[in-house]
Amino acid sequence: GPSDLECDVLVLGAGPGGYSAAFRAADLGLAVVLVERYETLGGVCLNVGCIPSKALLHTAAVADEARGLAAHGVTFGAPTIDLDVLRGYKDKVVGKLTSGLAAMARARKVKVMTGNGQFAGPHHFTVTAEGGTAQTVQFKSAIIAAGSQSVKLPFLPQDPRIVDSTGALQLAGLPKKMLLVGGGIIGLEMGTVYSSLGARLDVVEMLSGLMQGADRDLVKVWEKMNAARFDHMMLKTKTVAAEAREDGIWVSFEGENAPKDPQRYDLVLQAVGRAPNGNKLSADKAGVTVTDRGFIPVDAQMRTNVAHIYAIGDIVGQPMLAHKAVHEAHVAAEVIAGQKSYFDARVIPSVAYTDPEVAWVGVTEDDAKRDGIAVEKGLFPWAASGRAIANGRDEGFTKLLFDAQTHCIIGGGIVGTHAGDLISEVALAIEMGADAVDIGKTIHPHPTLGESIGMAAEVAEGSCTDLP
Ligand code: FAD
Repeated sequence: GPSDLECDVLVLGAGPGGYSAAFRAADLGLAVVLVERYETLGGVCLNVGCIPSKALLHTAAVADEARGLAAHGVTFGAPTIDLDVLRGYKDKVVGKLTSGLAAMARARKVKVMTGNGQFAGPHHFTVTAEGGTAQTVQFKSAIIAAGSQSVKLPFLPQDPRIVDSTGALQLAGLPKKMLLVGGGIIGLEMGTVYSSLGARLDVVEMLSGLMQGADRDLVKVWEKMNAARFDHMMLKTKTVAAEAREDGIWVSFEGENAPKDPQRYDLVLQAVGRAPNGNKLSADKAGVTVTDRGFIPVDAQMRTNVAHIYAIGDIVGQPMLAHKAVHEAHVAAEVIAGQKSYFDARVIPSVAYTDPEVAWVGVTEDDAKRDGIAVEKGLFPWAASGRAIANGRDEGFTKLLFDAQTHCIIGGGIVGTHAGDLISEVALAIEMGADAVDIGKTIHPHPTLGESIGMAAEVAEGSCTDLP
């Protein structure tokens, strides 16, 4: 109708994809409406994902490190944990970032609409606020950034002691015994937090290894350092049933490493993957194709099958990572603004923020073996890194993989403290087509963990140095 709101770009969802797209489009001079069903901006990542998990992981790591200092001659008393204060700290971290986003939206004159959004047609969108009042927005272009939600196992009963990552991040209590259903990054990160706060862990994983996607040699280091947190690591095993009783959740398993009898847990975390929200947006009203599983197919300019409607982030596919969503967001906004942008990133890094961290980017050694790619490997063990030894954390290593024909770097993996911060240099090297000489002859500051990247390159070149 005549009272319709009008805009150049409607962005659906205010996660890392949505807010990045909205801000970039506004910076390029477009009139932007940003629709989000929740009161705070930031989506899964800021509210119930990347950020709160890292606030808790940091706290857990410092507590663990303090315990370890006894070996350096410094002893603290046993930690006491005030869950209310810890929860408050986490919420404050999240609040700082989400309120920062709201200010950035205001500064750019991005109009934020709070409510559930649905397509009403190829150029119309309806936003229904909590009270039920609906408003229609007319748009020239749209960017769908509606994200994903955690997959729920249908046979698990409704019970406050059975949670997904969002429930686990609420930190309602401290379980004595916790089950991680799913041994991926999200499950292992939350398990790390609860175990550092005192819980004993079991993990059940259908596949043959934890932390799928990472090279097994990296994961092995993590496993060795974390074995003490776990009573049972049940690989090639399935959760098949659970019963909520007064004394706990009793879970039954089937598979190669399944215990015969049901096991009792105080808390069960479901972390078996995330499903895209594509089937909940009436996208068909705009003619946008959505797959059965809820993904929205896009081209390299992030365009859906409808030329003026784009999609980005978790909803377009794997890997479901915030930095991928942000990169795609910039592409979509720039294309709408008339720029010749397209998605041409060679690699997207992955990081498990466990202790130690595990990070990898590009071709992995296991990929190369499976796909018959000939690689040259440079591996530098942190047992030879002065900084890692000084830190008392020399269990890690840095591995670089070079194409055997071109000698250009095509992948890398790091396990050790701060691996996630270190992997960026490897990603940059791959993007720039660097070879082992470029990396090895780059002067890295001594003594740093980053030096291990230069050393690994020198190993690949066959000119390993002896700097400790
Ligand atoms: P989301 O962040 O999912 O945002 C989508 C938004 O759209 C939501 O706010 C939702 O409310 C809104 N929305 C959906 N439908 C509608 C509708 N119909 N109307 C109105 N609003 C709607 N990634 C990393 O890179 N690093 C990490 O360390 C990391 N840690 C994680 C830890 C956990 C526990 C979890 C669960 C995820 C983690 N991720 C991490 C993944 C990361 O959170 C996602 O990849 C990222 O949030 C995807 O961004 P997005 O913009 O695609 O969607």
